[in-house]
Amino acid sequence: MDLGIKGKLALVTAASKGIGRATAAGLLAEGARVMICARNAEELDITKGELMSDGGEIKSFIADVSDPEQLRELYAHTTENHGPIDILINNAGGPPPGSHQDLDDEAWLNAFNLTVQSAIRLTNLVLPSMKTAGWGRIVNISSYSVRQPMDNMMLSNSLRLSVLGWAKTLANEVAPRGILVNTVCPGWTNTHRVSSLLQSRSVAEGITIDEARETIAQNVPLGRLAEADEIANMVVFLSSNAASYVTGVAVPVDGGISRVV
Ligand code: NAD
Repeated sequence: MDLGIKGKLALVTAASKGIGRATAAGLLAEGARVMICARNAEELDITKGELMSDGGEIKSFIADVSDPEQLRELYAHTTENHGPIDILINNAGGPPPGSHQDLDDEAWLNAFNLTVQSAIRLTNLVLPSMKTAGWGRIVNISSYSVRQPMDNMMLSNSLRLSVLGWAKTLANEVAPRGILVNTVCPGWTNTHRVSSLLQSRSVAEGITIDEARETIAQNVPLGRLAEADEIANMVVFLSSNAASYVTGVAVPVDGGISRVV
């Protein structure tokens, strides 16, 4: 299938590792031009170098997506040097774990900036040129926890639903302008984030990392964790011309772990 995004400019945030990085690789493979951002200059440089070696046009810019000023700089740098953004992938690191009693005002506000405002602010910046072009794709990276809340993940369970409500409402508002807004909800995926989580579980429970992974996999109908490119495949499809009649959806890519229809 020709996804029809050759030469389109895609901005993928939080993309030095994991799902963001796999998405950048997938978009490059489809011939899109890609700008990635993350906070750590060294990691970002290494990732850019590795992705560049597979061919294609990839650039990077250091930015913390929870900081509105850095988002403005990222947007200005990208558009001044490469033109209008056609595809926006709103990704960020996950908010910290914790239960209701662990979280104070500051924790909620920081997580709101990271998970909700990052997507809204960048979208505000890219929408005018997408409207002018009459074409745009916005894909948010969320979690399967929007369908089935996870214990001790109060911030993620709450704020990702806020993004979902915003995305669905926005999808209807901008549909007449040719802009599609969708969300991908990954299940357990083998990334850096999950490696550190498995490491802490193995220490806390006195089991090996493989045993910790196996415990999770037993709950997944497909019997294993996902690889990041399996999540990215859906993100790339929703970013494409081929997804031309899909908007306002939240697509689980979770191996069947969420037990809801
Ligand atoms: P990861 O830790 O492997 O990668 C996260 C990337 O985000 C890194 O490149 C990191 O540098 C960057 N980053 C983190 N905070 C940032 C910030 N404030 N500004 C800019 N860049 C930032 O994580 P991942 O597993 O790829 O997760 C990506 C998203 O998907 C997260 O929101 C995570 O909660 C969500 N998610 C992951 C899984 C999973 O199992 N891996 C499951 C469901 C949802």
